[in-house]
Amino acid sequence: NKITIAIDGFSSTGKSTIAKQVANHLGYVYVDSGAMYRAVTLYAMNQGLIAEDYFDVKTLNDKLSEIKVSFKFNKGLGFAEVYLNDKNVEKTIRSLEVSRFVSKVAAISAVRKKLVAIQREIGKSKGVVMDGRDIGTVVFPDAELKIFMTASPETRAKRRYNELINRGDNVVYESVLKNVQERDYIDSNRKDSPLVKADDAIEIDNSDLSLEEQFEKVLELVRK
Ligand code: C5P
Repeated sequence: NKITIAIDGFSSTGKSTIAKQVANHLGYVYVDSGAMYRAVTLYAMNQGLIAEDYFDVKTLNDKLSEIKVSFKFNKGLGFAEVYLNDKNVEKTIRSLEVSRFVSKVAAISAVRKKLVAIQREIGKSKGVVMDGRDIGTVVFPDAELKIFMTASPETRAKRRYNELINRGDNVVYESVLKNVQERDYIDSNRKDSPLVKADDAIEIDNSDLSLEEQFEKVLELVRK
């Protein structure tokens, strides 16, 4: 019997890496909910609605109906890539630039309402692993398995920094750490669906766990 697996946690805790592996192993669909918030943020940036010290929330709210966020499975990669108005934005949305604004966009209730509706639609067919901040608390409160991933901010910033460097982005570690901490703060303190561990979520601190160990741990929980 297929189940719904919700994986939540702070930024760059390695949720997506594990979620993807587990989904592939079980033959489940993996959904990166953060990618959806990033896609809406990219839209806002492209439209000139958000910049340092500037955010035209009203216009973004007015234009929400013009934003289409969807996924398309990429066989070669083994997971679904995110599309903004039918354009593949999987790579663009991972920039530090988008990361800088995404938590502000994700704090807008109308944005959350729109994306949560899409997430629930995808989740109607069981056999889904979704990662994010509010999956176990808001999107799928009835998920059979909820995991809350944690790791120290430094561990997380190092991981994100390496990812960005490996893809050729020109970033400094301090900026990445600052961004991780800022997003943690905004995500945890927003009014709508703040990032909290669901009461029935199982916490995994992966600061000192290898990918292999994390994978085994999650599979063990699935089998229970
Ligand atoms: O997971 P990722 O780091 O790509 O998410 C980017 C941002 O999107 C988070 O920092 C958070 O502000 C927002 N987000 C959210 N709810 C989710 C997933 C992501 O608010 N379910």
